[in-house]
Amino acid sequence: MNTNFDIAIIGAGPAGLSAGIYAARGGLKTVIFEKMLPGGQITVTDEVENYPGIPETVNGFDLADRMKKQVDKFGVTTLIEDVAEITKDGNMTLVKTSKDTYTVKTVIVATGAQPSKLGTAGEQNFTGRGVSYCATCDGPLYRNHTVAVIGGGDSAVEEAVFLTKFAKKVYLIHRRDKLRAVKIEQDRAFANEKIEIIWDTVVEEFVGDQMLKSLKLHNRKTGENSSLEVTGAFIFVGYVPNTSLLKGLADLDERGFAIVNDKMETKTPGIYSAGDLNQKVLRQVVTAAADGAIAAFSAEKWIEENFE
Ligand code: NAP
Repeated sequence: MNTNFDIAIIGAGPAGLSAGIYAARGGLKTVIFEKMLPGGQITVTDEVENYPGIPETVNGFDLADRMKKQVDKFGVTTLIEDVAEITKDGNMTLVKTSKDTYTVKTVIVATGAQPSKLGTAGEQNFTGRGVSYCATCDGPLYRNHTVAVIGGGDSAVEEAVFLTKFAKKVYLIHRRDKLRAVKIEQDRAFANEKIEIIWDTVVEEFVGDQMLKSLKLHNRKTGENSSLEVTGAFIFVGYVPNTSLLKGLADLDERGFAIVNDKMETKTPGIYSAGDLNQKVLRQVVTAAADGAIAAFSAEKWIEENFE
């Protein structure tokens, strides 16, 4: 049993790292748990151009690295340990990890979200053999290939443009006749000669043998079925929240996102939730960082009221 810390933050993406900075500056002995590499989803984002204060476009990995350095500067401990369970024990909270159990006064869960699967035939079979959820990781493998991107939101449109650095042709397959992405990203895609948008269309099957070779498409307006030859398919159809640790501790909406109030409080006293795992209107680095700051501020006040 480890009793060295006041606060445990779970997840080292922008929400968790921001919470770490605020908690440590508030005088709390702070630990951040991360199961893999610090940085969260932005580490697989090639370009971040909308984080205030950084006018030059910055690579997501570099931005995360700068946040981590800032956290280190304030003396936060970061441990690479997978958190298995969070339970209340009176006023204290127990955080059980792969290595130890930590008794802390308060916890901020900042475990983010992960890419949604389409759930289409062949998707699982060809994952890692043509089907990918990360253009930054796998894009360079498709130099001079023809690839498809599935989705119509910011992720799909941004990554389609990114993939034109490598691929000779990028089909953007969207199920409607209007993109959901922000206008500046749409304009970039429309202006890119390598991108062709296939509207009103869904993928019904990923087809190939050892590797992906084609997609079976269905046009929802005309009812027409067709086949599209591609060697890579990048799926960006939204995210599912990593809220399993909050089950029983926080109310979750029908899609599994955590419901918090404006202090980032869950329904359990002393347990906060911050970042992309929360029900919210805008999931961005800047909103994740803001959530983390608010959660740490609220946690600090809660400790003052309940322990001092
Ligand atoms: P999103 O905004 O939820 O968009 C998901 C897209 O996938 C939508 O176009 C949706 O179609 C489509 N889709 C969903 N389920 C589908 C299915 N079963 N079959 C086919 N298409 C399907 O997700 P996102 O683009 O990953 O973005 C997530 C959040 O991160 C958003 O808040 C976004 O603004 C943010 N983000 C921001 C940036 C940035 O600021 N630079 C970059 C990336 C992401 P419909 O449009 O028909 O619903």
